[in-house]
Amino acid sequence: MDKKDIKNFTLEELKEEFKKISEPSYRAKQIFSWIYKKGAEDFNAMNNIPKLFMDKLAESYYIGAVKPLKQLESIDGTEKILFELDDGILIETVLICSNKRKTACISTQAGCKYACVFCASGMNGFKRDLSVSEILSQALFLEHRLKHDITNFVFMGMGEPFDNYENVSRTIKIMNSPEAMAVAARRITVSTSGIIPGIEKFKELGLQVNLSISLHAANNELRDRLMSVNKIYPLEKLIKACEDYMNNGGRMLTLEYIVFKDINDSQKDINDLSKIAKRLKAKVNLIPYSEVCSVNFKSSLKKDVKDFEDGLLKKGINVTIRESKGKDIMAACGQLAGNPA
Ligand code: SAH
Repeated sequence: MDKKDIKNFTLEELKEEFKKISEPSYRAKQIFSWIYKKGAEDFNAMNNIPKLFMDKLAESYYIGAVKPLKQLESIDGTEKILFELDDGILIETVLICSNKRKTACISTQAGCKYACVFCASGMNGFKRDLSVSEILSQALFLEHRLKHDITNFVFMGMGEPFDNYENVSRTIKIMNSPEAMAVAARRITVSTSGIIPGIEKFKELGLQVNLSISLHAANNELRDRLMSVNKIYPLEKLIKACEDYMNNGGRMLTLEYIVFKDINDSQKDINDLSKIAKRLKAKVNLIPYSEVCSVNFKSSLKKDVKDFEDGLLKKGINVTIRESKGKDIMAACGQLAGNPA
C-alpha cells in the first residue's frame, strides 16, 4: 500500500484516520503540534508518542517535504529559495523583509495556465497543482529550517491560487488552525487573477483572510490583451462577483494594479479605476512593473507610479504603492519561473 503524506490532512481528517486504526483523537493534535509548531520532519523526533504507535504511523504515513536546491539573497534582504518536489518539478518561494514584517510569498502551482503577458510564472506553461503538503512545506521551511519569524503569508508566488482552490483553502485552514500554525486569518492574503468561482467559494471559507484581485486594467479591451483570464471572466462579471463578495461579509478587497507606462496610466485609466474602486470600496495597491525577459514592457519609473498614485488620491481613493523587492535575484512580483539552478 502506498504511504500517505500526513501533511495533506486537516486536523479533523487526521482524527478520522486515527479512529480507523483505533487511536484516540488527541494523538492527531499531538502530531499536528510536532509538525506545525515544532517543525518535526521525522516521526522519530516525536518523543511523547509511544514507540508502537510511531511504528504504526511510519507504516502508513510519511511527512512530506520540499527539497531546497538553491538559496539566493538580494542586496535588499529578500531571500528566494528554489525547491525540488518529489517528482523533480521546481518551484520558488520568497521571503520579503521590511521593518515590521517578514512576509512569506508562497507558490500554489508549478507554472500557471493563465499566462498573463507580463508574468514569468506562466511562460513555460502549466505543470501541475501543488498539494496541501507542498504548499505548507514552503512556509514550514522558512519558519523552522531558516528560523524566520514570519508575520504574513501571501499566496502570490507561482500559480493561480483559485485554480487550485481545494488545496489552497485546506492549506489556509491548517495554517489558521490553533493546533497547527495558528496564523491569524488577517495575516494571510490570497491574490487571484480573477477566477470568479474561486471568489464565490472563498466567501464560504468563513475566515477573515485578505483577498487581492489582480486587476491591471480598468477596461475589457486592455485587460483581454494583458490577461487571458479576462476572456473567460470579463471585467463586469468580475466586478459583480467582487461586489457580492463584499456584500456577504468579505473583508476589504485590494485591487492590484501594475502601472505600465503609456499602456494603462492615462487620466481615463485613473477615472475608470477610481469608479471600480469606489463601487467595491476597495483599496488600490499599485505595483511597479518588474522586468521579465522576453517581454517588451519597460520597468516602471518611481515618478510614473507616483503620478498615477496622485491621480487616484485626487479622486479620493485609498491607494498604496508596493515596494518592489528582490529584483536582483529575480524574486520580485511576477519574476518567479522555477528555473533550474
Ligand atoms: N495568479 C495570482 C497570483 C500571482 S500574485 C494573481 O494573478 O493574482 C503576483 C502578483 O504580481 C499579481 O498581481 C501579478 O499580476 C503581479 N505580477 C505578475 N507579473 C508581474 C511583473 N512582471 N511585475 C510586477 N507585478 C507582476
